Amino acid sequence: MSLRRFHLPRLHVLALLALVLALVATSCAVGDDEPFLSNPDVAGADDETPSGPAALSDPVCDEQGARASRPLDPAGLDVDLAGTRMQDIIDSGTLRAGVAQDTLLFGFFNPGSGAIEGFDIEIARLVADALGVQLELVPILSADRIPLLQSGAIDIVVKTMTITCTRWAEIDFSTEYFKAGQQLLLSTEATETDMARMTGERICAAEGTTSIAKIREFEEQGTVEAVAVGGWTDCLVKFQQGEVEGISTDDTILAGLAVQDPFAMVTEFDPAITDEPYGIGVSQEYPEFTQYINAVLEQARTDGTWQDLYDQELRAILGERTPPVAEYRTG
Ligand code: GLU
Repeated sequence: MSLRRFHLPRLHVLALLALVLALVATSCAVGDDEPFLSNPDVAGADDETPSGPAALSDPVCDEQGARASRPLDPAGLDVDLAGTRMQDIIDSGTLRAGVAQDTLLFGFFNPGSGAIEGFDIEIARLVADALGVQLELVPILSADRIPLLQSGAIDIVVKTMTITCTRWAEIDFSTEYFKAGQQLLLSTEATETDMARMTGERICAAEGTTSIAKIREFEEQGTVEAVAVGGWTDCLVKFQQGEVEGISTDDTILAGLAVQDPFAMVTEFDPAITDEPYGIGVSQEYPEFTQYINAVLEQARTDGTWQDLYDQELRAILGERTPPVAEYRTG
């Protein structure tokens, strides 16, 4: 295990500091300008009882096989669209994608361009482009990903979302499009880096994530105190204000937080604390849409698009990586 600091060229650091300041300032701002909301309300987000279909028991999913998605349609992207969810979206002219806007590298609001940018945004754009429709980015919180898909407020979730068996019982996932793993962000002064050996350190993560679930496992053992918040920049603010000693989530998200804080370091446990394979979330009501998205991803893996996007968005920070191999259900 080793620790890693993330460095960006000087201009990028300045741009990032501006981003953090903008996020912190706007989340507190009251003024005439339309406020930038780091945690906006989205219709349906507060539904306590999602109106989506009942949970489907999935005999194929076990913790090892959670990555396997619905098999490709033999016609791939040339599938007959009549009567499909894809045709409905084409008719509406817009694909609504639930994304992050506080996760540097994957989905973040860039005050310079005025747009939400990142790897997940480009993945969502692949699906919109394949359908030939506009991409509408809907900023959401981690805890709202499944309820918003089930209520129909969004068509897909592309938000650093881990494929798990528990979630497969509620929604569909595409094949894995990114391989992440849980790590821990701490102060560069920290001496204990193992949550199993900590003595009451407060560790932050967003509510409704695999990350907070793992921290709570350590909390049950009495080593750490879990602190749940809405979004990832909320954890960074708490860390910088000394309200928590650490943040634990995917290496991808922590890398984006670490470049915003020169006093932060990220563990490199190998293997990671947990595996976090990312998939695109889709409603269970439209299995043909999951298959279509799988065809979009398959094309991006094979024609070099995935690699180009990775190199453009992430390679400078996360190093060399190649696309995960897709796994499909056979049963
Ligand atoms: N990959 C983790 C999850 O899906 C955390 C990602 C996030 O909250 O954006 O729960």
